[in-house]
Amino acid sequence: MIQIDLTGQVAVVTGGSSGIGLATAELFLRAGASVAICGRDAERLAHAETALMMQFPSAQLLAARCDVLDAEEVNAFAQGVQRRFGRTDMLVNNAGQGRVSTFADTTDDAWREELDLKYFSVIHPTRALLSMLRDAAGMGNASIVCVNSLLALQPEPHMVATSSARAGLLSLIKSLAVELAPQRIRVNSILIGIVESGQWRRRFETQAEPGQSWEDWTAELARKKNIPLGRFGRPEEAAQALFYLATNLSSYTTGSHIDVSGGNARHV
Ligand code: NDP
Repeated sequence: MIQIDLTGQVAVVTGGSSGIGLATAELFLRAGASVAICGRDAERLAHAETALMMQFPSAQLLAARCDVLDAEEVNAFAQGVQRRFGRTDMLVNNAGQGRVSTFADTTDDAWREELDLKYFSVIHPTRALLSMLRDAAGMGNASIVCVNSLLALQPEPHMVATSSARAGLLSLIKSLAVELAPQRIRVNSILIGIVESGQWRRRFETQAEPGQSWEDWTAELARKKNIPLGRFGRPEEAAQALFYLATNLSSYTTGSHIDVSGGNARHV
C-alpha cells in the first residue's frame, strides 16, 4: 500500500471511465486527492462515477463527458475542473486506444486519425490545464504523466501507425519536459506492454477455444508474445507507476519513463 497523503491536491485523469484510467482515479482517491475524470461515453462514465462513489463515499469526484480530440470540449472540461476544485496539480493523459494495421492496409485517413489521436490526446488537455499546473507548481507538486506504449521503442509491424505515433509521442514528452522544467512542472510517461482491458476481453470472447478460461487464454498469448513474466499486466499495475510519476514520490524525475511491460522490452 502506497503511503502518501494527497489531501488538497487535484488529479485530472483523461479516459478515467475504464481500465487503466479508472484504476488510476481509484489510487488518487484512496490517497485523499480530489479527482476529475472524463470520457466520451456518458453511460460508461456514469457507471465509473457510481462505482468510485460507492468505494469512496466522501470522494471529491468530477466526472464529465469530454472527447480529448475536441479542443472546445477539453477547454470546457478544464473550466469545470477550475470551477469545482480551483486547481490542478497532476494531469494523467491516458485516453485513447490502439490500431491494429500493417503498412499495406493503413489508409491515409487511418494514418491521420492515429496521429491525431496520439498527439492531440496529449496536446489538448496539457494546453487547457497548463495555467492551473503552473499555479500548482508554486504549491509544491505539478506534473503531467502520459500513458505511452513500449511500441514507442519496440515497433510492431502489425501496429505500424500506432508504433510510429507512439515514438513521436515519446519525443513530444521529452520536449515538453525540458520546456516546462523551469516552471517546475514535471513531465513523464509509462511504456506499457499488454494490460488487461475491455479490448482484450472482447478478443477473448471471440477467439478463445470453447471452455478455455481467461487465465489460460491470456497465459497462452503471453507465451506466444514471449512476455518474460508470463502474463498480461493488470490496470492497477500501470496505475501504480502513473501514481508514482504524478506525485512527489518522483520529485527529481522528469523527461523519463517507466517500463510496465512484464519484461517484454528487448533493449538493454
Ligand atoms: P480502456 O478502453 O479500458 O480505456 C480507455 C479510456 O479512454 C476509456 O475511459 C475511454 O472512454 C477513454 N477514451 C478513449 N478515447 C477517448 C477520447 N477521444 N476522449 C476521451 N476519452 C477517451 O483501455 P486501457 O485502459 O487499456 O487504455 C488506456 C490507455 O492505454 C490508452 O491510451 C491505450 O491506447 C493505452 N494502451 C493500452 C494498452 C493495453 O494493452 N491495454 C497497450 C498500450 C497502450 P470512452 O471510450 O467512453 O471515451
